[in-house]
Amino acid sequence: MKERILEVRGLNVDYGMGPESVRAVRDVDLTLHRGEVLGLAGESGSGKSTLAYGMTRLLPPPGIVAGGEVIYHLDDGTTVDLLRIRDADLRRLRWSEIAIVFQGAINSLNPVQRISTQLVDVLKAHSASTPRARLDRARELLTLVGIASDRLNSYPHQLSGGMRQRVMIAMALALEPRVVIMDEPTTALDVVVQRQILRTLVDLRERLGFSVVFITHDLSLLVEFSDRIAIMYAGQVVEEAASADLYRTPLHPYSDGLLQSFPALKGPKRELSGIAGSPPDLRMMPSGCPFHPRCARAMDVCGQQTPVLGQSRAGRSVACWLHPVSVG
Ligand code: ATP
Ligand code: SF4
Repeated sequence: MKERILEVRGLNVDYGMGPESVRAVRDVDLTLHRGEVLGLAGESGSGKSTLAYGMTRLLPPPGIVAGGEVIYHLDDGTTVDLLRIRDADLRRLRWSEIAIVFQGAINSLNPVQRISTQLVDVLKAHSASTPRARLDRARELLTLVGIASDRLNSYPHQLSGGMRQRVMIAMALALEPRVVIMDEPTTALDVVVQRQILRTLVDLRERLGFSVVFITHDLSLLVEFSDRIAIMYAGQVVEEAASADLYRTPLHPYSDGLLQSFPALKGPKRELSGIAGSPPDLRMMPSGCPFHPRCARAMDVCGQQTPVLGQSRAGRSVACWLHPVSVG
């Protein structure tokens, strides 16, 4: 059995309070194992970012974690619930244990500061090393992510988008975290650059042994680079599987639709068809299966009863009436 490092249990996240509130993440369970790349996919608005912000307590208002736990397994064998530890303890864990690169982080590089200063600042804020050691480490980090160390004194505008993204990865890895969470870090970049960056991240994962949660709407990238994939729809995980299983035999019609929406980067070409319709308004969720108004395979039961994520007879994890599951 693979060692667990991060476990999300029954996580609910709302925007707002009272009758006007909407549930953007609903009863999500996820497990990240040591050294694995877990991909999180779903259309825009499916709740991927809300989940990432919610589980790391970085949710901006009016977001509220309405329930659940996020268990982090420390190296000494003890566990902490990230949703319940003191703010100061959580701050200590961020960067050093769990590093997060959020959407748009590439634009958060300070345009008037050299890369060296920005990398050194991260190291200075979190470790007690000497100025010389910090500079050496900054150089080493740049080399690690595939940027020549003579670019250390560049300003962000002197680097390409792909290089700036690599700098963000270098910053995330500065304190040798055990978990790296990346939310759609590469959408502003062309598909070739996206692939190169993900390749670098996955190679580094193999060398350094950290675990990755990688969030994107582009399922074809995840199929290539993740070990496991969880598919989100309307705030819920509707299928979770090993990447190869999901690619070969997606069980949930939504997973199938997502796979048909992006060109495969490797292997045989498939016809692109996409998914008809759009995701539901969270304030007016359909009855039964939230996907039923868009699902070509919907049956009578689908509009009446909500399928729950469980284990199918073949041991796959899915929430769809086409695949009877046992729950718990
Ligand atoms: P994207 O890929 O576009 O970032 P996502 O899958 O990460 O999408 P979220 O950004 O987590 O999805 O949004 C989930 C849902 O929460 C959406 O329906 C969105 O409209 C809603 N939402 C997000 N932020 C707020 C907010 N501040 N107030 C109310 N609803 C919000
Ligand atoms: Fe389609 Fe029904 Fe499965 Fe929902 S439960 S995905 S509507 S077949």
